[in-house]
Amino acid sequence: MNVEGIKTVAVLGAGTMGNGIAHVFARSGYKVILRDVEQRFLDRGMETIGKNLDREVKKGKLTEAEKGTVLGRVQAVTEMGAIAAADFVVEAVPEKIEIKRAVLGEADRILRPDVIIASNTSSISMTTLASLTKRPDRFVGMHFMNPVPVMALVEVIRALQTSDATFETTMTLAEKLGKKPVAVNDAPGFVSNRVLMPLINEAAYCVMEGVATAEAVDAVMRTGMNHPMGPLELADFIGLDVCVDIMHVLQEGLGDPKYRACPLLKKYVAAGWLGRKSGRGFYSYS
Ligand code: NAD
Repeated sequence: MNVEGIKTVAVLGAGTMGNGIAHVFARSGYKVILRDVEQRFLDRGMETIGKNLDREVKKGKLTEAEKGTVLGRVQAVTEMGAIAAADFVVEAVPEKIEIKRAVLGEADRILRPDVIIASNTSSISMTTLASLTKRPDRFVGMHFMNPVPVMALVEVIRALQTSDATFETTMTLAEKLGKKPVAVNDAPGFVSNRVLMPLINEAAYCVMEGVATAEAVDAVMRTGMNHPMGPLELADFIGLDVCVDIMHVLQEGLGDPKYRACPLLKKYVAAGWLGRKSGRGFYSYS
């Protein structure tokens, strides 16, 4: 499908990433079919989109009437059959291969053959996911960053099977959303997590070995390297359990012991100290 022919986009999953992805497509004039398994997940996703649009209204970037128009472009559905009208699909269901397999199989059967399916997975091989469909050449990675309406980067990831046409259409589509697409090949962690997670892991080692406190490690990286957030603050924001899971993906996928998760990170996860979402990680959020 040519990028100019894309008018309606289906987003599978209305969670953290899915509602953000639906937001940016609708904000850029696309019709969106937002699909989740239960109405309450759709209601929560639509509420989040509404709140995030309100923030733009307050900043004067959007009028109240335009907000209504943007929201009106999003059709929230539980019926998978409704995605048949889509010209492009972004999958943002939970990071479990069995769930992705089921959803991709179903989407593959319903969609027109020319429709590209993009996955927002952070750690599963795009090449593996492409092979679960009957359209592996029309499968690609579109890795948005959280929070989607705010972050400019989209890693556009080529599976081994992705055709040049699919790749080019997806790069152009990301630009049409006002994002900055970056071309990346399929490999564990892509570029974003391959570089970020070992940084966070090493920061955790510094704390574990008593090289410095968490505050001091973050201060060095903020003040000395101009990072907007220290690596341990960022780890708390992402979730320490997610960080450990991604280190496991890197270690398994790349087979190098340098990617082993820091024992202190694992200990915090075992204690239920997952970062912001549990109220405690490297920092306290009570
Ligand atoms: P989430 O748990 O917040 O949302 C997933 C949603 O998918 C839930 O609402 C769930 O009900 C829904 N869902 C489950 N089965 C479904 C189905 N069959 N059809 C449609 N919807 C279904 O998860 P998330 O954080 O939004 O992550 C989604 C994907 O994005 C994952 O692959 C994750 O790795 C990736 N990702 C997450 C982040 C992040 O910071 N959270 C960043 C980049 C990429």
